[in-house]
Amino acid sequence: MAHYLRRRSALAGPKWSYPRFLMLGFKPFDPLWLARETERIACSGDKRKYTAFYATGVYAGIATGYVVGCCLRCFFCWSGFERDFPEFFGRFYGPEEAMKCILAAARRYGVDKARISGGEPTLCREHLLGLLEAFQETDLRLFILETNGILLGADRSYVRALSRFERVHVRVSLKAGTPEGFTARTGAKPEAFELPFRAIEALLDEGVSFHVAAMTDPRLMPREERQQLLRRLEEIDPFLAANLEEEICDPYETTLVRMTAYGLDPAELFLAGLGRES
Ligand code: SF4
Repeated sequence: MAHYLRRRSALAGPKWSYPRFLMLGFKPFDPLWLARETERIACSGDKRKYTAFYATGVYAGIATGYVVGCCLRCFFCWSGFERDFPEFFGRFYGPEEAMKCILAAARRYGVDKARISGGEPTLCREHLLGLLEAFQETDLRLFILETNGILLGADRSYVRALSRFERVHVRVSLKAGTPEGFTARTGAKPEAFELPFRAIEALLDEGVSFHVAAMTDPRLMPREERQQLLRRLEEIDPFLAANLEEEICDPYETTLVRMTAYGLDPAELFLAGLGRES
């Protein structure tokens, strides 16, 4: 143990500040900083770390490449522990190789849609754009780009780059309706709350196909905050609010661990029912 502590102290420095689980008393981080730090681990040139290729029943069947790394730390997150410990999981795939694996999964399971999931797909920009390039060469019907909107909101040119691809649909998933709720649920500093909304505005302006989802589960988001979220979307475009996809939190293994680390009792939360409390 003493040896470990000596070693840990020798290693102390920026790498120990890499956020893992959200814990009580956490210091809010800049998600753009966390994106860069995560990319140093999960990306290499145009390559990105993946842990698996498979298909699932969501979206009525979709081939999925499971990627490593995210720039938020949502306490309700159900993705694998590679989100928190990207150093330990996955191997690097170039864009063509990854799309080949996704296509093989699509063929194996008889589905015609594709996505990358598990982490934030917009990390490793060079990889994602290469992957979408490779997707254009396939006969798959649709690529669904799921995103938390942080990087797309920070850089309009990224959204413009996406707009040139055909058969790509973006799903922006909001985590909060207020800056305080955003920090409490994601760990990111409140100033970053606006970024996903900026992404939505940019997607509209650039004519990209997209829709908005939000984690409005009443056990996690108070009624008033949900209304603020809807009002914010209405200000941008009433169609977005009217067609909001509302997400529900499920007790996945990783979710239970993350909630416990954050000082919440998952049993209390999941057994409490869905009554919306304010
Ligand atoms: S829920 Fe999505 S945005 Fe939040 S930490 Fe998990 S993968 Fe990232």
